[in-house]
Amino acid sequence: MPLANWWSTAIRTTTATIMNPLSRKHVVLLVAVVVGLVLHTVLLGLFIALRVDVLVWVNIGSVALWLGAGYWLRRGRYALAAYVMFAELIAHSVVATLVLGVGLGFQFYLWPAACLVVANPSVSVRYAGVLGTVCIAVFAALELTLVEISNRYGLGGYQHWVYLGNVLFCGVALMLCIISVRVVNEYQQRQLIALATHDPLTGLFNRRYMTEHMEQLKAHADREYSHYCVALLDVDHFKRINDVYGHDIGDQVLQCIALTLKARLRSTDLLARWGGEELLIALSGTEAQRALLLMDNLRQRVAESSAIKPLCGGVTLSFGVAEYQPGESNQALIRRADAGLYRAKAQGRDQVVLEAPTSP
Ligand code: GH3
Ligand code: MG
Ligand code: MG
Repeated sequence: MPLANWWSTAIRTTTATIMNPLSRKHVVLLVAVVVGLVLHTVLLGLFIALRVDVLVWVNIGSVALWLGAGYWLRRGRYALAAYVMFAELIAHSVVATLVLGVGLGFQFYLWPAACLVVANPSVSVRYAGVLGTVCIAVFAALELTLVEISNRYGLGGYQHWVYLGNVLFCGVALMLCIISVRVVNEYQQRQLIALATHDPLTGLFNRRYMTEHMEQLKAHADREYSHYCVALLDVDHFKRINDVYGHDIGDQVLQCIALTLKARLRSTDLLARWGGEELLIALSGTEAQRALLLMDNLRQRVAESSAIKPLCGGVTLSFGVAEYQPGESNQALIRRADAGLYRAKAQGRDQVVLEAPTSP
């Protein structure tokens, strides 16, 4: 079934991306490659204009190295790409400062170099700390030893603008580095929360999330004297579907059931995979008779689903419904819904049974 296939592929791809620890390096390093290439192309133009031959050749080598870093990044050689960028930044910064002096600000590129190595997850924290400190120490050494500005290249009044340009570019590079780490972290945080609260096969909320949600419903109902119901539902003769059509089709049937139910639920209802082929629905602000009608409607929708029929000829569901009684625990409430489900099965399946409250 195309929709179910699409759904399972989307879930599998997302899970693989999050579980892949390399995906974070990729984004941070990609930003670094783009920034580095732009910077070195601009610098190449600058040194050609200034006729600083030695730095023109250095920059041609630099652009080649940054292109190489991009190539290795594409090939998945993250650590190699990162080390090439890091080494280039340090070497280039030191050579340019030795040739032109500290007055043009090329020594400041040692800071984004330190930031790049520290933000790179393929370098251990301890090693990254050492390398970052080396960058800052080299910066200090250059500042302390090269106070004299060599003005052999006739920069004249442009010197201050080159200095400002370098410092600003370093500032932007630092900011981009930190922003890309933050964006990736926030994205992964959201994905981890989604993974911790959802079932990977159906994309529905999982048992843990539903348990917490029901505790909130109970607290609200106790405070506001409001109603809520739960419905426990189970696929009829599901083992037979697995046996006859195979486990993969069984999975697709479960996905289709989840999509069908989700599409029909109210925004205030919560559907979760409770375990195996059992699902649980929490219906907030709903009394028993209304819950019965709603669940019977869902039962018919699934039984008539044109998405499920081509897979296995159709399935039916049995439901056990129970309404919360003040003072009752959620475990006891679900036990009552389970008793209703048991009766629905015993009475012939494909039906909804309301389980009355137990007498005190
Ligand atoms: P009943 O009408 O009494 O519920 O009959 P049933 O065949 O559904 O019986 P039972 O609940 O004992 O069987 C549930 C089956 O669901 C057994 C298990 O292999 C299958 N199942 C549980 N989880 C999954 C799943 O994620 N994918 C697939 N394909 N099958 C599953
Ligand atoms: Mg079953
Ligand atoms: Mg079952």
